[in-house]
Order: sequence, then C-alpha cells, then structure tokens
Amino acid sequence: MNAPDVIRELRAIVGDANLSTAEEDLLAYGFDGTWYESRPLAVVLPASTAEISSIHRLATRERLAITPRAMGSGLSGGAVPLGGSIVLGVMRMNRIVEIDQVNSVAVVEPGVVNADLQRAVEARGLFYPPDPSSLKQSAIGGNVAENAGGARCLKYGVTGDYVMALEVVLPSGGALRTGGKMLKNVTGYNLRALFTGAEGTLGTITQITLRLLPKPRFTKTATAAFGSIDDAAATVTAIMSSGLLPTSIELMDQLTMRCVEENAPSGLPVDSEAMLLFAVDGNHEAILDGELEAIATIAREHGATSTRVAADERESAALWNARRSISPALARKRPHKLGEDISVPRSAIVAMVRAVQEIAGRHRLLIPLFGHAGDGNLHPNILCDRRDPEEMGRVRQAAREIFEAAVALGGTLSGEHGIGLLKKQFMELDLGPEALAVMRRIKDAIDPLGIMNPGKIFPEPGGPDAFSL
Ligand SMILES: Cc1cc2nc3c(=O)[nH]c(=O)nc-3n(C[C@H](O)[C@H](O)[C@H](O)COP(=O)(O)OP(=O)(O)OC[C@H]3O[C@@H](n4cnc5c(N)ncnc54)[C@H](O)[C@@H]3O)c2cc1C
Repeated sequence: MNAPDVIRELRAIVGDANLSTAEEDLLAYGFDGTWYESRPLAVVLPASTAEISSIHRLATRERLAITPRAMGSGLSGGAVPLGGSIVLGVMRMNRIVEIDQVNSVAVVEPGVVNADLQRAVEARGLFYPPDPSSLKQSAIGGNVAENAGGARCLKYGVTGDYVMALEVVLPSGGALRTGGKMLKNVTGYNLRALFTGAEGTLGTITQITLRLLPKPRFTKTATAAFGSIDDAAATVTAIMSSGLLPTSIELMDQLTMRCVEENAPSGLPVDSEAMLLFAVDGNHEAILDGELEAIATIAREHGATSTRVAADERESAALWNARRSISPALARKRPHKLGEDISVPRSAIVAMVRAVQEIAGRHRLLIPLFGHAGDGNLHPNILCDRRDPEEMGRVRQAAREIFEAAVALGGTLSGEHGIGLLKKQFMELDLGPEALAVMRRIKDAIDPLGIMNPGKIFPEPGGPDAFSL
C-alpha cells in the first residue's frame, strides 16, 4: 500500500480531525525535551484501546513504524519518531477512569497529566508519590514508559513501584492485560515490570492501575548551604546512613543556583558552592520538626555554613518551584545542553561529584550539577553550542567519561530519563553483552517486525549517537 492509502486508512480509524500530515504538526510532534528532531509520516491521535489496536494491526500489515507519544517532555529522545514512524499520540486518552478508595488504586488512561492525577487523588485524602519535576508537562503513559522518578522517590520509590496493572496493545494489535488491584501477585513472569520502562519499544500502554497511599498530613522543607560541594555530598551520605529517611534530598551546585536565580530570583544561596533542599513528611508535626533538626545537625557537622527551615507553605513552594525550574533555566544559559541522568550507589556520591568536576575542568566545559542526591541520581548537564564542532568534540568525550565514571563506581547510565536515542550507544558498557542479548531476544519475541519505536534503546554499531542526529 502506498503512503496516501495508509493515511486514508488511518484517517478512517481515528476520524478526520485526529490525523494530521500538516507540516506544522509533523514539526511539533517530531521532537521531545532533547535536541533531536525527526519528521514523522503522520500524527494520529486515537481515543480508545480499540482504535490503537486497529492502528497497530495496520502498522503490522504494512510494516509501518509506530512511535507512541504522551506529552513529549522526555529527556532521552524516546518520543522522537525515526524511520518514517507514525506518531501515535495518547493525549486524547486522558480520563481518570476510577479512584477506588477501598483498594487505594487509581485506574487511568495514559494521557492523564501527572499533576492532574495528584490533585484528583489528594482531594480524596490519597497520595500518588512519583513526582517528576515535569509533573505538569508529562503524562502517566510517558511516566510509566520511562519509569519516571522525582524528588519524593527517595522515600517512596519510582513510578514502577506503583504500577499494579497495565493494559498494553502489542505490536500485532492484540491487547494484553497484566496485573490487577490486588496487592500481592506473583503469578508468572512480572510483565508489568517488563512493559514499565520499555520506552514504547514493546507496545502501546492504554490503561494503567496505580497504587495509592494515604496522604501524609504534613510536609516540611529545609535547606542547607555549603562552602564546598564535597561537604554537601558527604552530608547526603551521612544523613542516609544515620537511620533517617527524608522524603527528598536534592542537590544544586553553584552554577545551577546562579542559572535559576538569573531566570527567576527565588533567594537561593548563590554565594555558596552548593545547597541541599530537604523535605520530610508524615502525620505528626513534632516528629518532622525533630527530623529536620537532626538533618540540620548532620549538615552542620559536615560543613554547612547555614541551615534554614522554610517558615510556611509559600516559602516551601517557592523553593520547590525553583528546583523544578532548573532544566529550563539551564537551557537559557547556552544555546544547547546535554542533560545526563547517571545514578550511583549512595556511598559513591562524593566520588561521582568529584569525577564530574574533574571532567568539566579538564575539558573546559560548564557542567552544572544537580539532582536527586539522596538516591544517588545526579543530572550533570553539559552546556554547549552544537554549532561549534571543536566544543562538541570535547562534549562528546566528557559525556563518555561521565558514563564510564558512573559505571566504574557501580552505577548506571540512567536513573529515570531512560535510554532512548541519547544513551543507546553506551548500553553494552553498562549492561554487558549477555544482558543486552537477552533484552534483544525479548524485543524480537514481542515485536518480531521491529515496528515499535525503532532506533531506540539498542545500540547500533557505527549508528547515530547523541551527536549525529
Ligand atoms: C523540565 C523537565 C523536568 C523533568 N524532570 C524529570 C524528573 O524529575 N524525573 C523524571 O523521571 N523525568 C523527568 N523529566 C523527563 C520526562 O518528563 C519524563 O521522562 C516523563 O516521564 C516523560 O513523560 P511524557 O508524557 O512527556 O512522555 P513522552 O516524552 O511523550 O514519551 C516518553 C517515552 O515514553 C514512550 N511512551 C509515551 N506514551 C506511551 C504509551 N502510552 N505507551 C508506550 N510508550 C509510551 C515514548 O515512546 C517515549 O519513548 C523531565 C523533563 C523536563 C522537560
């Protein structure tokens, strides 16, 4: 079938208004939060599992590639359509199907925005902990496909820890359901875990059942400023080995704070070399006050020059808004940025921070460092100008060295943003040949024609890397 006939058939599935080949739509659906861009063949916006099944069946018959897409905020190139893909956007499927108070679960469609779900469950005294900084710009389908994390994941775990059941349309068009509302379930292989974090390479997720918790009554925020980033990193390790379990411990280095303040002043301690932002939550205010005091004591013992508890909700919200504005603030500093997402064991945080600083200095690059330090997930962002080949040569080398340092310290390439296009050429360095080969066999078994999100996750010898698209 030629392209116009395929488009006609797709249009018949989703309706005239929900298919586009207009230049502006192909452009708008051709990129994500990275610097990659690629034009899809068409954009389809289905409204139901049945429509998605029909699209998959057509794609299988015509050997057509599909790139599932939610809000396109991904930071690894996962939603960028390669190989003449059609973009299958799920944002019309944005219903919260059910909030089941007795079983403490929410059943949602993949296009529900994370922040909307948070608000809806909190109105019922419930709590959905995973809170990517993009919570207003990302949807649950994308969160599940990337196994997204966030500041609260230190205490509560990541998206995958809340996925109880999934409905997934397989490449051939059949809909698979796995899991349910029960808390315990060890029947067979854990397919929920397989599809969570698969980055759209195994099927399209069409419904998600999420575990909810009772909402904690109080959350408190505090900060600590440091004359040395080493001291800040050592404080994180000390707190985490003290028996305390804060909700969040976020790190910002001086360059990160300065970029945030240039973007929108919020009173961060920009004269310090680093700051830590803490949250604690629970049902007893006095206990939280005690925890913050214990955290402040540890911070001071490790060189904090000042510590402060946010006086009220407003001050606390301003600090967390500043934290969430880091990514856009850094994007304004130089024409481009390469955002990394390495994750190391807590015991290696100090060594990883030092390695990033050493790499930045040696390659004469600005690499602001921030991240979810409590769980060892750091985001060194290499600021650069892609139009400068000499600088990009140094960026490429620095990126490789950051990955190598993370792996050498017992860590991994990605803590929460996924592999997508950005890191696929480094997969073997992290996983080793055997694990990678098993993953390839799983991919081939579920998607033998390779139509689901081609060009992602798996390395291609001599193929494109972060610098060649
Ligand atoms: C400012 C900013 C801050 C961020 N902060 C965080 C953070 O704190 N933590 C974090 O984890 N991430 C963060 N991210 C990255 C990003 O927001 C997350 O990866 C998020 O989960 C992506 O959701 P999305 O809806 O935008 O998905 P998209 O970007 O649209 O898609 C992401 C991947 O999921 C696949 N996909 C989407 N929908 C489906 C579906 N229904 N079925 C199968 N596959 C699907 C796509 O093919 C793609 O591979 C941040 C991004 C930005 C821009």
